[in-house]
Amino acid sequence: MVGWAVGRLALVTGAGSGIGRAACQVLSREGATVIAADRNYDAALETIKTHTALASGSNDVGEHCAIELDVADSKSVQNLVQTLSKQYRVPPRIIVNSAGITRDNWMLKLSEEDYESVLNVNLKGTFLIMQTFAKAMAEAKVSGSIVNISSIVGKYGNIGQTNYSASKAGVVAMTQTAAKELGKFNIRVNVVLPGFIDTPMVKTVPDKVKESLLKMVPLGRLGTPNEVAELIMFLASDKSSFINGASIDVTGGY
Ligand code: NAP
Repeated sequence: MVGWAVGRLALVTGAGSGIGRAACQVLSREGATVIAADRNYDAALETIKTHTALASGSNDVGEHCAIELDVADSKSVQNLVQTLSKQYRVPPRIIVNSAGITRDNWMLKLSEEDYESVLNVNLKGTFLIMQTFAKAMAEAKVSGSIVNISSIVGKYGNIGQTNYSASKAGVVAMTQTAAKELGKFNIRVNVVLPGFIDTPMVKTVPDKVKESLLKMVPLGRLGTPNEVAELIMFLASDKSSFINGASIDVTGGY
């Protein structure tokens, strides 16, 4: 295996589905050892068994591993960092924060519970992973790249997504601040803002709403998880070595 990421550990959250799964696929293609973390362990295992470069077509997952993780639970995140430190000795130098949820409703009907759960996973979860693993990288004196996943609705808002759009706007602001603080440790932090991407998350959007959204996409289609993963891969690699604190749209022009 020859690739820029050979010998690098990559932690991907939300790795059991959609964009996180595609990120595992692309990063492993570049030679990274992938830690696929998801609250759904079976889905994360499926990712490394059938979607990573080394593993495709066999049951051999090489050094890749699947781990159960709830990004919104600090104990779960602490268990993860300790487990990885025992297993690999060095911290992951690539972090992809892809775990995310929606609990859509009109603002006037949105429950406090649905507001909190979305903020807890999308915003607090991204914070806990960034803080924990940036600390581990700084202590180990290794450089790194953190790629957060926001959403285009964090910029423009979207009907039915008060909670989600607020969480994703928060991820952009948090990324810019983290980039300013972590630069001195040679850790870059960037954020990707996908538009409408064909994953299980978008399957919950009613067809009528999807049709009207697609009319606003100049390319006239949904994006694929792989189209987002290729940007994640670029931001994770040294090819983007002077890109830090950037927010990049992947929307087909939406
Ligand atoms: P997805 O297919 O639903 O994948 C998200 C994964 O994250 C799922 O496996 C999910 O598990 C997992 N997850 C949820 N909560 C978690 C938690 N607390 N801890 C660990 N894992 C958790 O969604 P996706 O479309 O790939 O979305 C990935 C990221 O892109 C999200 O942050 C999303 O907000 C963002 N995004 C997506 C789109 C889009 O159009 N698809 C657009 C803009 C931004 P469960 O299945 O058990 O929930």
